[in-house]
Amino acid sequence: MLCSDEVTTIRKSFPSLEELVFNMLSQGDGTISVSTFFDALQAKGLTLNDPRLKESMDNFRSKHLPQFPERIGDKYLTADEFKDCVQDNIVLIGRALQNKLIIPDFPEFAATIQETFEEAKNNETGELADYIPQLARQDPNAWGVSICTIDGQRCSFGNTSDHFSFQSSSKAPAYALASTLMGSDFVHRHIGFEPSGQSFNALFLNNNNTPHNPMLNSGAIVTAALIKPELTAADRFDFIMSKFREAAGGEYIGFSNATFLSEKKTGFRNFAITYLLQDYNCFPPGADPVDTLELYFQICSLEVNCESASVMAATLANGGICPLTGKKVFESVAVRDTLSLMLSCGMYDFSGQFAFKVGMPAKSGVSGCVMLVVPNIMGIMMWSPLLDNFGNSCRGIQFCQDLVTHFNFHNYDNLRHHSAKKIDPVTQRTHSQATRTMKLLFGAYNGDASALRQYFLQGMDMAESDYDSRTALHLAAAEGHTECVEFLLEKCNVSPDVLDRWGHTPLDDARLFGHTGVVDILENFKARRQEET
Ligand code: GLN
Repeated sequence: MLCSDEVTTIRKSFPSLEELVFNMLSQGDGTISVSTFFDALQAKGLTLNDPRLKESMDNFRSKHLPQFPERIGDKYLTADEFKDCVQDNIVLIGRALQNKLIIPDFPEFAATIQETFEEAKNNETGELADYIPQLARQDPNAWGVSICTIDGQRCSFGNTSDHFSFQSSSKAPAYALASTLMGSDFVHRHIGFEPSGQSFNALFLNNNNTPHNPMLNSGAIVTAALIKPELTAADRFDFIMSKFREAAGGEYIGFSNATFLSEKKTGFRNFAITYLLQDYNCFPPGADPVDTLELYFQICSLEVNCESASVMAATLANGGICPLTGKKVFESVAVRDTLSLMLSCGMYDFSGQFAFKVGMPAKSGVSGCVMLVVPNIMGIMMWSPLLDNFGNSCRGIQFCQDLVTHFNFHNYDNLRHHSAKKIDPVTQRTHSQATRTMKLLFGAYNGDASALRQYFLQGMDMAESDYDSRTALHLAAAEGHTECVEFLLEKCNVSPDVLDRWGHTPLDDARLFGHTGVVDILENFKARRQEET
């Protein structure tokens, strides 16, 4: 065995994260091309304007090309210059380049999303909402999908920077906000939990004479009354806008005064709902019903684009913390409640079918937007103005349904003994492949040579690796299992030079943990192989 000093020396001799990244991407002449580095980050789904990379991007430009910052990609830097630029953000950069972000193979994932997007584009069914001119004038061909993962990996297809009216999709973050501020118990003294079985703007309350849930108009009007009631109308509006913007990582949140004026002018049903709520004492004491309704109209008239709203959805997927800024916007319990109600009530009268077929929380809006949350993985915002009979975006619904044919995102896709072969983009494998790999690695870790023989005979790829790129040979070497190491090298022809996530070979592991028997086997094998070539 090695003594602890030797272990420390070996550990110290491992390169720093900055060096690892440099070595991974540098050219033969000992420099790194800045554009190669940027391309590598973008291939992992990060964008160069990500606030978490700001310090590095500023360093590259100000230290190396202050006069022509836009041409920074043309520069080549030495290892020291590179390290000096990236060290402030090296943890994120290191995680991305070592495939440690939630979707490790982002290009492959994004390619499937693009295919799904293109297929839905062919769907030209549906009608524009026409109750106000601002929605009737929307472009029927517009179609956009943006994704933001809980690690801030982004991809966008179609009209994703066009602004559109947030409408009823705003009910989800508005409820998360009210529940964060007031607590669930207080909010639900005023609003119920159940799907209504009625249209979203029905003049109808539940048996307790409260709104059925916060995802339909009556519930959302009461929700508006619960957000900072102590402030003036102007300050309440500013407060909501700033919270929504925080949830969107500082990205686009606007307001359409024209939409607001139209909503107010034509919203007879919403006035009727508000007076019914007032008649049944549904508002908290002191709330002015008409001011509250105006605030509700203002929230519906906020504008977003697919990109900014995908970040909001990702904040919900991430338990209330914005993935791009790390800021806590909503309480996690409030987010859990929001997702529960989105799942049961978020898609109007299609909510039951949507929960059945898609199995994920979503909230649609009459402008044709659908905000979809894949809990703990990503947020997705879709927008296409043509609506089906339920008032949901036709392309949005098709996209959601197709999405779960590719990926294991449905709530119950991961049920034991479920046979569907869907991709898990987090582990990059189908469920059964991942299970087989884990069994192989487990066998190697335990030194179970007979299990390895059995997997080999079954035709399994013995070089399979886990999330950290650790192979069976790494584990057998690190644990000192000589028989397994010999079997893997001699019979299965696995390479002894394979690197794990930290750039270590099986030989490094055997040395680090002082397994001299394994060290000898690996060194002899390599020497023999060199003689042969
Ligand atoms: N502003 C609309 C209303 O209150 C919101 C409708 C919606 O998106 N379903 O009627």
